[in-house]
Amino acid sequence: MSNDAPVKKKRKFELDPRLATYKGVWVFIEHERGQVHPVSWELLGEGRKLADMLGVELAGVVLAAPGDDGQRFCHDAFAYGADLCYLMESPTLKDYRNDPFTRGMTELVNTYQPEVLLLGATTQGRDLAGSVATTLLTGLTADCTSLTIDMDNRSLAATRPTFGGSLLCTIVTLNYRPQMATVRPRVMAMPERQEGRGGTIIEHPLAMAEESIITKVLDYIPDDSRDKPQLPFADIIVSGGKGLAKQENFQLVWDLARVLGAEVGASRPVVQAGWAELDRQVGQSGKTVRPKLYIAAGISGAIQHRVGMEGADCIIAINNDPNAPIFDFAHYGIVGDALQILPALTEAFRQKLATTRRAG
Ligand SMILES: Cc1cc2nc3c(=O)[nH]c(=O)nc-3n(C[C@H](O)[C@H](O)[C@H](O)COP(=O)(O)OP(=O)(O)OC[C@H]3O[C@@H](n4cnc5c(N)ncnc54)[C@H](O)[C@@H]3O)c2cc1C
Repeated sequence: MSNDAPVKKKRKFELDPRLATYKGVWVFIEHERGQVHPVSWELLGEGRKLADMLGVELAGVVLAAPGDDGQRFCHDAFAYGADLCYLMESPTLKDYRNDPFTRGMTELVNTYQPEVLLLGATTQGRDLAGSVATTLLTGLTADCTSLTIDMDNRSLAATRPTFGGSLLCTIVTLNYRPQMATVRPRVMAMPERQEGRGGTIIEHPLAMAEESIITKVLDYIPDDSRDKPQLPFADIIVSGGKGLAKQENFQLVWDLARVLGAEVGASRPVVQAGWAELDRQVGQSGKTVRPKLYIAAGISGAIQHRVGMEGADCIIAINNDPNAPIFDFAHYGIVGDALQILPALTEAFRQKLATTRRAG
């Protein structure tokens, strides 16, 4: 092959000077009933990296009712890496409603002009991101799995699964600002909290009359989540796949999980077969998890499962096929029959934990 082949030059993109004034990375600080959703802190950790690459400030955006802990959330945001916080307080922001939150966020964006705006891909974040992006006529990349900056043109390169999850694509919003993205809880690592770290609070009013908002919150009925699986925040997860062959065998996953004090996860075919509830599905169309330990038994490791669990600190795969894709990214692999290995592990852990407990 000739060495004289023409080198394809990357197109240099010139941002409209009107939009070049947009600077800074923002993270929407989502809260409900006095609690900030942890995805906001995860996004501040990621936002910090993006802001440092761009050489700009990282800001949190808190929309709250007066006296509703807005100041406290700003100080928490500083501890998780924000340099400043925009605090908008209004009685209309008491409970989340699309109208006032969209109005508040778009007003802040139009006034202070950030180049990047990140939100959690939660029920609230997804609802707000869509309406803010359409109101501002800008692009939004939903459910991203990684974010970085294309330094050739300072644009946000947002990666997400596409074509039914069989491919990952990277999307850039070249002609519009801000560049918006949502990211699911647990996709990004939780940054370390730095106590005593300070920042600037910029207060901005929201002039919106309650009468102009058509939705009203009449009552708050909490979702009784106590009985529901809490996979995204579990430290240990034992997951079972279609390799377990039948529903009765899935009990082996429960047995090991009980001994380890773990949550039970499942691949999609297992959920589709009715062996486990939908809340236990791990993967692209299920939950994203980030446990310390993830044990996958009889799971092939298809990309749609992998994107939901590859953030685990330690992955142990049990599969009878030495060429199963899961062995390409598991930290430890056991090649063998899960129907024999799961009970053996359960027994070994039961004995080990009993000995540890006796030793005090
Ligand atoms: C749009 C879309 C979204 C999707 N979302 C998800 C999602 O969120 N989560 C998800 O999991 N999947 C999802 N999928 C499905 C995904 O593509 C795979 O089909 C699925 O993950 C495979 O599940 P599995 O590994 O349990 O089953 P299989 O692919 O059937 O693999 C079973 C594995 O078990 C092994 N095995 C067999 N017998 C034993 C034994 N006795 N002991 C040990 N190992 C054994 C086999 O070698 C094999 O590797 C999605 C697909 C699409 C198209």
